[in-house]
Amino acid sequence: MKIILLGPPGAGKGTQATMLEDKFGIPQISTGDMLRAAVRAQSPMGVKAKECMDAGELVSDEIVVGIVRERLQQEDCQGGFILDGFPRTIPQADALKQVLIDIAKPLDSVVSLQVDTDALVERLTGRRTCRQCGKGFHLKFDPPGADGRCTVCGGELVQRDDDCEETIRNRMQVYHQQTAPLEDYYRAEGLLQVIDGMADIADVQASIVKALQDK
Ligand code: ADP
Ligand code: ADP
Ligand code: ZN
Repeated sequence: MKIILLGPPGAGKGTQATMLEDKFGIPQISTGDMLRAAVRAQSPMGVKAKECMDAGELVSDEIVVGIVRERLQQEDCQGGFILDGFPRTIPQADALKQVLIDIAKPLDSVVSLQVDTDALVERLTGRRTCRQCGKGFHLKFDPPGADGRCTVCGGELVQRDDDCEETIRNRMQVYHQQTAPLEDYYRAEGLLQVIDGMADIADVQASIVKALQDK
């Protein structure tokens, strides 16, 4: 299965991708996670990316296409993959199309998660991530343990630098301007599957699995 999870910041892409990874045994490829790893490693690419990420702007197409192209050629992607947060622009989608032709792995589905703006803001402001294992939580909708720590490894939970109100506003705008047009792009290719992302995490997962099985 080769799929893209599309949706605005906070729609639940990462949450759903992690669950699909476990269910189907195919890797989640999150450009956001890969960029944050580069920022932590203070690589030249990470230093460059951090400025854009903190401002809620997109990192250059050239950088993200490069990391995805490399990632898709690794052994564990042979049986499929879940792209989470990529592509985010039409040029990225065009570049992906070429990469997938080169490796002979056509997409099966582009799943688009629909969530109201108010809910997105609530999800992003309450989002927390385990510093140690990267597991995601939400203070209200997917709460951590009673001790306020990660339920998997006991690690400390942190809030992402870009999950502050001002940056969230800009990320939403960037989504509408640069990423939302990808819905029409993939609809035209007959790949788009629209999912109601307002339901509980488990219900959204069930809808996605059903949509993928129907395909
Ligand atoms: P969210 O899922 O909350 O939208 P991500 O973790 O996917 O956040 O992305 C965080 C930030 O990383 C983005 O705001 C952007 O700066 C950068 N980023 C991630 N993926 C891409 C991409 N495909 N193209 C450009 N920038 C990206
Ligand atoms: P994205 O990767 O699209 O930015 P995440 O998967 O990180 O979104 O989800 C954003 C926040 O919302 C997280 O704190 C997550 O726990 C929470 N969340 C995800 N899906 C749902 C849902 N269906 N209902 C309520 N909260 C959710
Ligand atoms: Zn943890």
